[in-house]
Amino acid sequence: MFRLKNDGMTDREIVEKLEKMLYVSEEKINLGLQTAQNQQKILANLPKNKVSLYVSIPFCPSRCAYCSFVSQTVGSFLSLIPDYVDRLCEEIKFTADLLKGRGIGVDTVYFGGGTPTSLTANQLDKIMKTVSANFDLSSLREYTVEAGRPDTVTEEKLSAIINNGGDRISVNPQTIHDSVLEAIGRKHTAKQFFEAYDLARKFNFSAINIDLISGLPKDTPAGFIETVNQIIKLNPENITIHALSIKRAADLMQNQNREIFTDNSANMISKANKLLETAGYRPYYLYRQKNQLDNLENVGWERGGHAGIYNINMMEEVQTVIAVGAGGSTKIVNDDTKIQRFYNPKYPLDYLRCFDETVLKRKIEAVNKIEI
Ligand code: SF4
Repeated sequence: MFRLKNDGMTDREIVEKLEKMLYVSEEKINLGLQTAQNQQKILANLPKNKVSLYVSIPFCPSRCAYCSFVSQTVGSFLSLIPDYVDRLCEEIKFTADLLKGRGIGVDTVYFGGGTPTSLTANQLDKIMKTVSANFDLSSLREYTVEAGRPDTVTEEKLSAIINNGGDRISVNPQTIHDSVLEAIGRKHTAKQFFEAYDLARKFNFSAINIDLISGLPKDTPAGFIETVNQIIKLNPENITIHALSIKRAADLMQNQNREIFTDNSANMISKANKLLETAGYRPYYLYRQKNQLDNLENVGWERGGHAGIYNINMMEEVQTVIAVGAGGSTKIVNDDTKIQRFYNPKYPLDYLRCFDETVLKRKIEAVNKIEI
């Protein structure tokens, strides 16, 4: 939608093209159009000569059954984490120097993973202080730290985030049903999520996002709608609804009794979307993955003008993202060349082993590719 609009097509022409040539349903066309409209203002204000910085913390307290990322459980990699934090800080400083040398600033910062709040408050504080000491954050538009697992959220960590400039966090229950949480291997309860959310609300974040997943094992359409209703009642600025996507690397694929429901998934999502719209939420970014339940999509919803800027820039591929840390994927977006990607080693151990010869060298190569 965004690209067709940019090519100068009117909404009517876009609708016709999608309806008649691509057989897209009216419902999905409207969803796409609304999303593109909501993105326009943010994309119009895209600053020149600025990039987004992605900081990868590839550790989680346990592995979710549907996860295909390379995140490592904190317990088994505990001894590695202090070295990882040191090297990551080194890479942040090195990257900041390279960008400053070319007169390039930072537009948004995003700490993702994994679960960044798997680290201790001191470790988080150290990394975030390295970011603020080395980058000019005075005109930053957004600073997100994912606090995905409610069981990792503490007052000390939230203080570290907000005191170092973080203004947007994500606390993700995925579902509010304990039986479903247990089935997907998340070691927290719904109660822990509500407590973590209440605690986070006491801090002055400009936006809190809540991630949900439809189609989880042991869930039902009615159960999912109940989750959506309960989350809407909390009135967070952002709600992101994912349709379950199962990759080969996920533990769930190995489990024959995975009990994933597929009937009525599209109806259930339509119903959830209507509930969100009625409650005043608007879609602001949308993307699809392989093997998604019922061929559905993931949609980020916002209320009150709190669209997540990094998510839009990243999904629409309109801005360079410089990634640091293991598993980080740097994406260089120039006006007239194809997108170029530079990958850091996936696993923390490889990242530490080939830090000088691979990580730093690739960073020089990547930053030199940015056209200013
Ligand atoms: S919290 Fe996210 S990254 Fe971590 S194991 Fe679960 S799905 Fe994977």
